[in-house]
Amino acid sequence: MSRTLQLAEQLISRPSVTPDDAGCQALIGERLARLGFELETIESGPADFRVTNLWARRIALPGQASAGACKTIAFAGHTDVVPTGPVEQWSSHPFAPTHRDGKLFGRGACDMKSSLAAFVVAIEEFLEAHASPRLSLALLLTSDEEGPAVDGTVVVCNTLAARGDVIDYCIVGEPTAVERCGDMIKNGRRGTMSGKLTVKGVQGHIAYPHLANNPVHAVAPALAELVAINAAGAWDAGNEWFQPTSWQVSNIHAGTGASNVIPGTAVIDFNFRFSTESTPESLQQRVQAVLDAHGVAYELKWTVGGLPFLTAPGELVEAVQSAITDETGIATELSTSGGTSDARFIAKICKQVVELGPVNASIHKIDEHIEVAAIETLKNIYRRTLERLNGLE
Ligand SMILES: [Zn+2]
Repeated sequence: MSRTLQLAEQLISRPSVTPDDAGCQALIGERLARLGFELETIESGPADFRVTNLWARRIALPGQASAGACKTIAFAGHTDVVPTGPVEQWSSHPFAPTHRDGKLFGRGACDMKSSLAAFVVAIEEFLEAHASPRLSLALLLTSDEEGPAVDGTVVVCNTLAARGDVIDYCIVGEPTAVERCGDMIKNGRRGTMSGKLTVKGVQGHIAYPHLANNPVHAVAPALAELVAINAAGAWDAGNEWFQPTSWQVSNIHAGTGASNVIPGTAVIDFNFRFSTESTPESLQQRVQAVLDAHGVAYELKWTVGGLPFLTAPGELVEAVQSAITDETGIATELSTSGGTSDARFIAKICKQVVELGPVNASIHKIDEHIEVAAIETLKNIYRRTLERLNGLE
C-alpha cells in the first residue's frame, strides 16, 4: 500500500467531527517533526468548543542563510470533517476506510484527509530528494473549518501576522476538481456579505389600514428595484477573473399568522457574493440609496463574511499549472467560483494563494469517496510544485 493511501486511511479512521481533531494533527506532527519541522499547537475557543490548530515550519538551510532569504511555502487545510449523517445510510462505516471499485470510502476521504496525507508524503519525498532545499516549508492545520471558523485558520494567521512571520506561497487542499484531479484550481474566491433588513411599520387591523402602516407594502417597490438591478447584472460586470456580483434574498418574514392583522415589521435577509469590482461599502451604499429613494423606514445590519481575493498568474500559479500538466497532461482551468474557504484568511498574510485538491462531487455526502489512484496523483502534483518552486532563482 502506498504511504499516502496508508496515511489517508489512518486519518479517516479518526472521527474528527468539528471541532474535534481526534489526534489527526499529532499523527501528522510526528511525521513532520522527524523531518526537522518545529511544531506549534495553537488552541482557541471556549471549553465546550475547543479548536486545535497546528503551525509546523521547517526553515531552509539552517545555519547557512537567514530565514528571510528563503521563500516559504505553506500547505493549509483542516483535519475536521462534517457530521456523517445517518450512519445506516452509508454502504460502509464512515470512519472505517473501505475500498470498493477502485475508490476509497469514508468521511473526509475527499474533504480533505487525502489532501492532508498527500501534503505530508509530498514533503517527505521532496526532502528525501533535496536534503538542503532552498524553500522553507510549512503546514497550517485547523480543526474548525467546517464549523464557525472563528477559532481556526484566522487565529493562526493573526498569530503569524502579529510576529511578522511571512508566507510567500500557500496551497490550500480543498477539493477543487470537477471530473479529474488537476482539472480545476481556484486562484481566488468571491467575497460574501449578508444584510438583515428590518422594515418598520405600524401594526393594525386589516379593516382599518389608515390606522396602520404596512411594512410589506412599504418595502415592495424597493425590493422590486433591487431585484431588477440584480437581474440586469448591474451591481458590476465582473472582470477577467470574476463573474458579476450576485445578490440573493434568502428569507422574508412578516405577519403575526392571523389573516386580519397588518404586520408591524418585515424582516428580509439577503446575501451578496461579490467580485473584486465591488467593495462592501459600494454595495451597502447602493442598497441604502434604493431604500431611501422609496422612503422606506428601516434598520439594516451588515455582516462581511469575507473579502474577495485573487492570485494573478505568477510564480505559484505557474508552478502549479506546470506540475499538473507534467503529472496528468491536463491544462488546468483557473476559477474563482464556489463558496468561501479558509483561503480568505490566508490571503490577508500571503499574496499568492491557490486551492488545489481532489474531485468535489461527493463532499459532505453519504458515501463520500475518492478514486484511490487520484490520491497518488495529488501527492505527485504537490511534490512537483515544491520542486518547481525550489528551482526558481
Ligand atoms: Zn474542506
